Amino acid sequence: MPDNAAPLPDFTRWPSFPFEGDLRVKALAAPVAEEPRRSGEDATDCVACNTPDDAYIWVSERWRVRAMDRPTGLPVVLILECRSHLDLGDLPNLLAAELGVMTVRLERAIRSLDGVARVHVNRWGDGSAHMHIWFLARPHGRLQLRGTFLSLWDDILPVIPEQQWRENLALVAAWLADFGGTANAEPPHIAWQSPSTISDPSTAGVPETDGEPEASREPGVAGDTGAGEPAVVAETDATEVSGTDKTAGTVFVSRAARGGENGTPSDREAAAEDQAGTQALAETQDLKEADPPQSDPPQSDRPQSDPPQSDRPQSGVAEGPAPAAAMPSPDGETATRR
Ligand SMILES: [Zn+2]
Repeated sequence: MPDNAAPLPDFTRWPSFPFEGDLRVKALAAPVAEEPRRSGEDATDCVACNTPDDAYIWVSERWRVRAMDRPTGLPVVLILECRSHLDLGDLPNLLAAELGVMTVRLERAIRSLDGVARVHVNRWGDGSAHMHIWFLARPHGRLQLRGTFLSLWDDILPVIPEQQWRENLALVAAWLADFGGTANAEPPHIAWQSPSTISDPSTAGVPETDGEPEASREPGVAGDTGAGEPAVVAETDATEVSGTDKTAGTVFVSRAARGGENGTPSDREAAAEDQAGTQALAETQDLKEADPPQSDPPQSDRPQSDPPQSDRPQSGVAEGPAPAAAMPSPDGETATRR
């Protein structure tokens, strides 16, 4: 250890620490005089602002939720964004209040998934300027994944089956849609199992390139170290995202064949609880309806906030192609990565 004799911190001995062997602390680089500009400091070249709704698993008037562009090691990793080009500290009270509701709702939705014990909610913001909150599902029983290093484990663990991943996305999207907005993610088609080529009538035979990184859709972010890091959709992808997605849409049934809103029984139960538990919220300040004091009945306020979606009520799922596949990832954050 030439120039670095710093003792290893205690966390390197925690069961959750992903690495072992000889380690040493990196030398700390000198601080820069000026912070580098983050991706999307200007709304014009902001990835989030330039990414169409169909690249998200769920959207509403003021909020959108996206997933990674492919399955990762955790059951699900999602990102909550506000539509407005704002950073966390710049949110007006209305959005700040809704952020609380959305955070709780999304956490609940993810936690309701089978096999998910906990949901880690993080905000780093070193990579992209547009506010985005990370939600990482920690697998049930995986005590070694508890805490700080979950985001690292996400890149270390074997990737979960794509079908399961899509199911998870669809369930979360449907859950959110129950409160308003539109779900774009649909569950995988039953015929999904079929080998390479899916000649499903409803999907017009699409190549099974789902799990593909589809480099085109996620050029990665400036200064991105890449390394398993969720890439960010570049300006040019905006269109490609949806395009490619549709291709990859194989996994999704074009006709919302979402057998049962909330898939599993446990989900339903959870959903029921959630309904009850968040009913108040929904009524008072449901995302669709900004103002808490609003006396509108829970139902009447829906129309307002999400006027365009007529399918919202029943299906909760977007009718169309249902891409939901190419969820660009937000940050180009290198160091903190998220
Ligand atoms: Zn933006």
